[in-house]
Amino acid sequence: MAKETHEFQAETKQLLNLMINSIYTNREIFLRELISNASDAIDKLHFASLTNKEILEGNNDYEIFLVPDKDSHTLTISDNGIGMNREEMVENLGTIAKSGTKAFLEQLKKEKEENTEFSDNLIGQFGVGFYSAFMVAEKVTVVSRRAGEKEAFRWESAGDGSYTLEECEKDSRGTTITITLGKDFYGDKAEENYTDNWTLQSLVKKYSDYVRYPIKMNFEVEETPKDKDGKVIEGAETIKKTEVRTLNSMQPLWTKNKSEITKEDYSKFLKNQFHEWEEPMEVFHNKAEGTVEYTSLLYIPAKAPFNLYHTDYEPGIQLYSRHVFIMDKCKDLLPDYLGFVKGLVDSPDLSLNISRELLQQSKELKTIGKNMEKTILKSLEKKLSKDREGYEKFWAEFGKSLKIGIYNSMFTGNDIINKLKELLLFVSSKDGKNVSLKEYVERMPESQKKIYYATGTDQATIEKLPQMELLKEKGIEVLYLLDPVDEFAIEAIRTYADKEFQSISRGDLDLDDAESQEVKKETEELAKTNDDLIKDIKEALGDKVAEVKVSARLKSSAVCLVADAQGPSLSMEHTFAAMDNPMFKAKRILEINPHHALFERLKTLHNAGKDSQDFKDYCDLLYTQALIIEGIMPENPVDFANKIAELMAK
Ligand code: ADP
Repeated sequence: MAKETHEFQAETKQLLNLMINSIYTNREIFLRELISNASDAIDKLHFASLTNKEILEGNNDYEIFLVPDKDSHTLTISDNGIGMNREEMVENLGTIAKSGTKAFLEQLKKEKEENTEFSDNLIGQFGVGFYSAFMVAEKVTVVSRRAGEKEAFRWESAGDGSYTLEECEKDSRGTTITITLGKDFYGDKAEENYTDNWTLQSLVKKYSDYVRYPIKMNFEVEETPKDKDGKVIEGAETIKKTEVRTLNSMQPLWTKNKSEITKEDYSKFLKNQFHEWEEPMEVFHNKAEGTVEYTSLLYIPAKAPFNLYHTDYEPGIQLYSRHVFIMDKCKDLLPDYLGFVKGLVDSPDLSLNISRELLQQSKELKTIGKNMEKTILKSLEKKLSKDREGYEKFWAEFGKSLKIGIYNSMFTGNDIINKLKELLLFVSSKDGKNVSLKEYVERMPESQKKIYYATGTDQATIEKLPQMELLKEKGIEVLYLLDPVDEFAIEAIRTYADKEFQSISRGDLDLDDAESQEVKKETEELAKTNDDLIKDIKEALGDKVAEVKVSARLKSSAVCLVADAQGPSLSMEHTFAAMDNPMFKAKRILEINPHHALFERLKTLHNAGKDSQDFKDYCDLLYTQALIIEGIMPENPVDFANKIAELMAK
C-alpha cells in the first residue's frame, strides 16, 4: 500500500488546534492518557483471548514500555495489546466519535461565547485521550499491528490538519506511539523534560500507579564490581548496565481482598496517598455489585484539618475508573458535611472522558455517593453504641460537621436529619459528660415534657446563668449548646421522640410539676397587682425591650433577659451579627424577679414618681445588668459605669 494522506474530520481538527495552541499548563496528563489507552488495549486483548487463545500467539506477558530518547528527543510508549488495523486507525485516530470529546468542544465553545478566559483545567477535566499527545508533540507516529493479523501500519501527523497512513513492518502485535517532542519538552531548559527517566517515573507514580499491567522503563545504572565475597574491588572501574524497572505498583490496594490487607497497609496508603500523618480513625473498604459496580476505600482521619470550616478547605474524594485516576477531590460524591472523609472510589461505570459538569449529573455517581453516605452513617451509629470512647474522639474532631449537616438539610433532607440526630452529643448539666438525645430522653422523668437546653460559650458561664438556677434546683437535666451552630441544628430537628426542645432563655419554660403550676399562678397574680409598675418599666426602657415581665423562673437573681419563643434567640442574633447579617434580631424580654429585694426598691421609686430620674436610672441599670449576664456588651458602657458610681456614692 502506498503512503496516503488523509484529512482529519472537522471536529478533530478543531480539537487538535486547541491542543497545540492551548495555554494549558497541565500538559503532563498526556502520559496518563496514552498509558490508559495502552492498558485498555491490553484489556481488550485479554478479553478476546478468553474465547480465542490463539490470538495471544503464545505471549501473554502483558506490558507497557516507555522509551525516552534524549538524542532524537522522542518518547515512545508501546504496548502489546490488541493493536489496530488500517480501518481502526482511520476510525479511531482520525475522527472523534466520543461523546466526552464532543462535550468538551461544546463547553469550550460556550466559554468562548461567554467571553470568559480559557479555563486552565478544562482539558484536565475532560481527559481527551490520544489527541492530548499533541500538547507536547511536534509529530506523533503510531505504528500498530492488530493481534492475529499480519500487516502493520504507520500513522503519522504533525497535528496540522492531515495525517499519513502507510503499511510498514512490525514484528509483534500491539501499538507503539512515538512522540517527537516539541522544543519545550526535552533538554535541560525544558518546562518539563519528557526524555528524563525521573520525570517519567514520577508521572507514572502520580497518575498511573494502579494500572494493572507493568509500565516498564530502562534505567542506566552504574555498578561497582565486587569480589566473590561481595566486597567492593578497590580501584576497579564501574560497570554501566541497563536495568528494566517497573514503575507502577500495579495492584491497587483497594482491589485486594480485605483479608489480605493489614491495618498497616491501610494506614500506609492513607499517609502516602492523602498526606496524612496519623493513623486513621476509621477505614471503610467496600465492594458493591448492584446497579452500579464500584469499590470504595474511605477514611476518617484522626484529626480534623485546621481549615475544615473555612472556605479555603477543599473536600473531595478521588475518582478512578478501572484503576486509572480520573479526578482528585470530586466534591459531588459525598454531601458537604462529610467533607472530612478522605479516600477514593473506583468504578468501571464512570467514564474517563467525562467533565466535572457531566459528572455532577451522572446517575452512577449519585448512587455511589448515596450508598457511601449510608455506609458511613451506619458505621458511626454502630461506633456510638459499641465504642463510646472512640465515638467521643470522633465527636470532638468532627461533631460540628454533623451539626452543620443537619442545618444544611433543613429544607431538603428529613431522612438525613433523622439519621444525624441520633449521632449528636451534648454536654449535660447532670455530670458535665456527653449525652445523646436518646440517652437524655430515656432518663428524663415522666412529668418532664420538653428537652431543655442552654446556650453559651462555655460550661462555667452557662452554669451561672440566672435561668439555670430553677432547673438545677428541680434536678432537670439541661443540654449545654456550646457551639453557635448547635442551636441552629436544634431548630432544624424541631423535635426528638415527640419532645420539643426548649431553650432556658427563650419563651416560657413550661414546667409541668405541681409546684411550678403554683408558682405560675402566683406570678400571674403578681403581674396583675404590679401592672402599672411593669408598664412603666417598659416605658422607661422604650424599644430596647419588646416586653417586661414578672418572672417565674428566677430564684436568687434580680433579672434576666430572654428571647421570645418565636424568632431567633439572643445567641443566634449574635451569630447572625458575626456573619454580617444583623437583620435577625431577637425579641428581648426583660424578666424581673418579684421576690428580690430590688423589686421592692423599684416599687418604692415608682411610687415616688415614674418620671423621676432615679426610677429611670434603675430601670436602665437593671436592663444593662441583664445584657451583661447574657454576655452582651452594653451600648454605652461609660454611661453604665457612671450610673453605678453615682449609686455607690449615695
Ligand atoms: P478513548 O481512549 O477515550 O476511546 P482516544 O482518543 O484516547 O479515546 O482513543 C481513541 C481510540 O483509539 C480508542 O478508543 C482505541 O480504540 C484506539 N486506541 C488508542 N490508543 C490505542 C492503543 N494503544 N492500542 C489500541 N487502540 C488504541
